[in-house]
Amino acid sequence: MMKAFSILLMGSVIAHAELRVATDFEGGNAEVVVLDQAAGRLRIMPELREGRGWPCWWFMRLDGTKPGQAITLEVQAQTRPFRPGMVLSAAWCQPDQAVFSHDGKVWQQTAKVERTAEKVAVYHVQTEGPSVWLAWGPPFVPATAEAVLSEAKSALGDEAERFELAKTRLGRPVNGIRIGKADAPRQVWVNARQHAWEAGGAWVGRGFVEWLASAEAKDLRTRCCVHFIPIMDVDNVALGAGGKEALPQDHNRDWSDTPFHPEVAAAQKRITEIQASRGLDVFMDLHNPSAGDRAPYFFGPFGFERMTGLQRENYQRWIELAAAHLSGPLKVEPKYRFATYVKTEEERGRMSSGWARAHGGEGTISITLETAWNTPESTMENYMLVGRQLGRALNAYLKEPRH
Ligand SMILES: [Zn+2]
Repeated sequence: MMKAFSILLMGSVIAHAELRVATDFEGGNAEVVVLDQAAGRLRIMPELREGRGWPCWWFMRLDGTKPGQAITLEVQAQTRPFRPGMVLSAAWCQPDQAVFSHDGKVWQQTAKVERTAEKVAVYHVQTEGPSVWLAWGPPFVPATAEAVLSEAKSALGDEAERFELAKTRLGRPVNGIRIGKADAPRQVWVNARQHAWEAGGAWVGRGFVEWLASAEAKDLRTRCCVHFIPIMDVDNVALGAGGKEALPQDHNRDWSDTPFHPEVAAAQKRITEIQASRGLDVFMDLHNPSAGDRAPYFFGPFGFERMTGLQRENYQRWIELAAAHLSGPLKVEPKYRFATYVKTEEERGRMSSGWARAHGGEGTISITLETAWNTPESTMENYMLVGRQLGRALNAYLKEPRH
């Protein structure tokens, strides 16, 4: 009797299985526009998080799929403004290859997007089970950062120390790790995800830290201390918001004398202390560029061409070493670019790279790596390879004494 009942119940569940979109997890974001059950066609746009920057990131789980089912995912731009009078262009939410996963852990790229005349991006995915995960790019959320930090700490023991940089405005911890001795003669600060949507930058950071924790970096760890923050804008990453151009300003425009974000204030304080005690050798900020940028590149200092002496020498040596080491498949451009789209001195001054230049010493270099996300090579594995290559470039750079 019981058995017959449960079979009946199961039958009714299967009969009513239908496609559902879930986003109730870290980084989740999708606003459903159309969900056509019969055709297996889903249209979404990135959901607007008021005041939390560009609606470009999307990340969801589609439940109720059958093994082998063909799903058509359509992505359109959010139609409402993210700031008064500003609607985000579709290019930011429509990678040539989106990513999907059958288990939420291993991500692969979709086939190349089809684009319609109405600016809708169409992706095709074949399911393997009752759910499929779909995202703009390989997700990297606070739980991922936690795994990276705890693995590095357990690999390194006394050679590393974890720390909480700050609590965000919403009370979430912003965590970091120091690798090498705090009083080491060479000092490096690296942070990622000042712009929450730029998940690729965080994967580069992961590759970098895993390299630092490896046997290959043992020598570097004896003479250098690296301070690393895998995610700066934890709130917006957790909320699945874009972060860029958030109100009143995003993290990378917040490095003024009165920062809005507590983690920016805390980073400034720590960097100031590093500069005062040992001197800061390198400040590095990890980002992703725009859809049309098909190769990674570094933003260098404004006025580089007019620089002389040690400063110029150090920046020049860095770009040469970076070009030699970041050799592909995501191959870095051998020349600096300059963020000339930032027009005023005031705004340039409150970008983190500008702040670090102003608060570092004569020998400090402050650079921003923009790793291309819109290419078939922009995978988790290749981002992490860029991170390892970055570690090797840093090792080579720091072999020469600071003058
Ligand atoms: Zn950015």
